[in-house]
Amino acid sequence: MNSETFIYITLITTSGALNALLFVYALSDKTRSQAMRAFAGVTATAALYCFGAALQLASTTLAAIKVWISVAYLGMAFSPVFLLILVSRYTGVDKWLSRKITGLLFVIPAITCFLVATNDLHHLFYKSLYLRTDAPSPMADIIIGPWYIIHGAYTFGSMFLGACLLVGQWRTASRAYRKQIFTLFLGTMLPIIASFLYLMGVIPYNMDPVPFILIFTTSLYVWAIRTTDLFQVVPIARGYVFESMRDGVLVLDLSGRLVDYNPAARRMIPPLAPERIGEPLEAVWSGKAGLETLPPEADQQVNAEQVWRTRWLQEGAEERHYEVRSLPVRVKNDRRVGRMLMLIDVTEHVRYEEKLLRLASYDGLTGIYNRAHFMEEAGRLLAEAEKAGSGLSMVLFDVDHFKIINDRLGHSAGDQALVHLVDVCRSQLREGEILGRYGGEEFVLCLPGMELAEASRRTEQIRAAIANSAMPLPTAEKPLQLTASFGVAEADGAAGFELEPLLQAADQALYRAKAAGRNTVCCSTGTE
Ligand code: GH3
Ligand code: MG
Ligand code: MG
Repeated sequence: MNSETFIYITLITTSGALNALLFVYALSDKTRSQAMRAFAGVTATAALYCFGAALQLASTTLAAIKVWISVAYLGMAFSPVFLLILVSRYTGVDKWLSRKITGLLFVIPAITCFLVATNDLHHLFYKSLYLRTDAPSPMADIIIGPWYIIHGAYTFGSMFLGACLLVGQWRTASRAYRKQIFTLFLGTMLPIIASFLYLMGVIPYNMDPVPFILIFTTSLYVWAIRTTDLFQVVPIARGYVFESMRDGVLVLDLSGRLVDYNPAARRMIPPLAPERIGEPLEAVWSGKAGLETLPPEADQQVNAEQVWRTRWLQEGAEERHYEVRSLPVRVKNDRRVGRMLMLIDVTEHVRYEEKLLRLASYDGLTGIYNRAHFMEEAGRLLAEAEKAGSGLSMVLFDVDHFKIINDRLGHSAGDQALVHLVDVCRSQLREGEILGRYGGEEFVLCLPGMELAEASRRTEQIRAAIANSAMPLPTAEKPLQLTASFGVAEADGAAGFELEPLLQAADQALYRAKAAGRNTVCCSTGTE
């Protein structure tokens, strides 16, 4: 054996050993993902291929060479199928890989191995196998038989299909996975190129260069496993999920810079673009037309999950609401490597909440506070007034002879009349004053900071405004002339700062206004 052959044998034995180690690594993997299982198949067959090829080269007799060729083919025939399965699982394009089809994929390699081992009986794989006379050491060469062509086409076909799947993934894959895709791509392409050169007859002594090439592909796998946790963290099938998720995801590094994002995030935050990768989150998040609220504390060291809401406001566009979840991203050994922000579109949810709140707090017909909500707000204003030592007046008013309007013009016209009346009242309100529907055609007004005399004057203005604003009705000839009667009471009088007694006092004053002929304002005397 010359030194070149010796070096070559040493190299491919090393390649076999590396593959054997990777096989052990793949077997010991706890995730037991399908991609990892296929990777175990790839490495086991590659190891067999290398060891068989090395021993074949080291053999001196034709009989020994035949034995080791059979061993090498056990690896060589099955390896491309495992590689194709691995790529399919990894890319997530594996729907076609049913159990049955997976089984069928191994049929041709199995026949190949059988025919290689029994070739002397039929010569279907190689017509003859002989020792080259021109080689510096005993080296076999073959004259190919018919099955050799089938095996070759099948091997090339599988590898080529795998390479195509990877190319197809490249465009849509996120940056994080491109290194892995590239590794797998070289893992399929390098043996294809080497085999092609071998078939073209450009390799000295027609030696199979693939086991040698496997040194490089195996080293690439080792490198990818070390630097990108190849198959360990998430095979690309899971990257697929990242890409097709409806929720937006932003990945930040420990210093808060943007590392990656998915298409959903891009839709939610239009300024996101590939060139923003590496920029601090603040710059991307709250740009010109950005999201409203930044993370409560953009503290990268926070380990716990945080949740907050934010709004996306853009002129001319619909306002969107997002719930943001911030989660620490950890890798093996629980080491924190960054943070993930998940944006969940809660716009519909928020709209629904707003609607519920509206329904619970506002009157459906007039849009002013309903009784319950008015009482809540008025109670708050009363407490504030008591604390500040300032005055507060409460006005109850009731539409005069409203029943007649309903009876003559119909309920719908009555409704319109109520809306009209509320519009007139609203136009008279000042900031801080609140109006509510007390019930039926009775309304209540809270005037904070106002003592009785002034409240009485304001109420008189409102009364006059109502009486003077005739409402045109399409169904009636004459515009409708509404009036109302008013009762005013002051806090800190007999009622103190209690809501119920104050409303009672106002109600009694209203009663007197009705009794006095309606369309008038009466004030509580404090003795009622
Ligand atoms: P008064 O001057 O003494 O207050 O006379 P009135 O007719 O206004 O008094 P009454 O309480 O007898 O009648 C109030 C009517 O208001 C009875 C009720 O059918 C009507 N009403 C209450 N709520 C609504 C409403 O939301 N829409 C309509 N169209 N009518 C309503
Ligand atoms: Mg009434
Ligand atoms: Mg009435």
